[in-house]
Amino acid sequence: MSYSYDPQNIFAKILRGEIPNSTVAESDHALAFKDINPGAVHHVLVIPKGAYVNFDHFSGAASDAEILDFYRLAGKITQELGISPDAGRGYRVIGNAGPDGVQDVPHFHLHILGGQHMGRMLPNKTA
Ligand code: AMP
Repeated sequence: MSYSYDPQNIFAKILRGEIPNSTVAESDHALAFKDINPGAVHHVLVIPKGAYVNFDHFSGAASDAEILDFYRLAGKITQELGISPDAGRGYRVIGNAGPDGVQDVPHFHLHILGGQHMGRMLPNKTA
């Protein structure tokens, strides 16, 4: 598979320090920051520092070290926000990809949402 990465996307600019962000946590291969237009009380985006377009690109092409570091950081954030079901009330993780997934920014990211009841996953799904 060949994935085309646009280095002018907004998260690439954040990673280059060209535009500001509200950083929550950082690791060797990943950055977590607050979503500028939050959809819940807590809304954090976790992105790899590498140039990956979406979930399938990242999971197929990133190194083991990048994947491990990314998911460790994402999991740690749920603990730090106090939303892990272990100590809090839970959360939702979303990864949008491509047009059907309604992905706006073409740099792989996970949304971590919590701090409130999130409702059913899909609006047309009732159970
Ligand atoms: P997606 O539709 O999955 O690509 O989500 C992109 C997310 O990026 C949206 O929730 C936006 O609110 C968020 N976003 C866009 N620009 C910024 C920015 N400069 N800083 C933080 N979040 C942003």
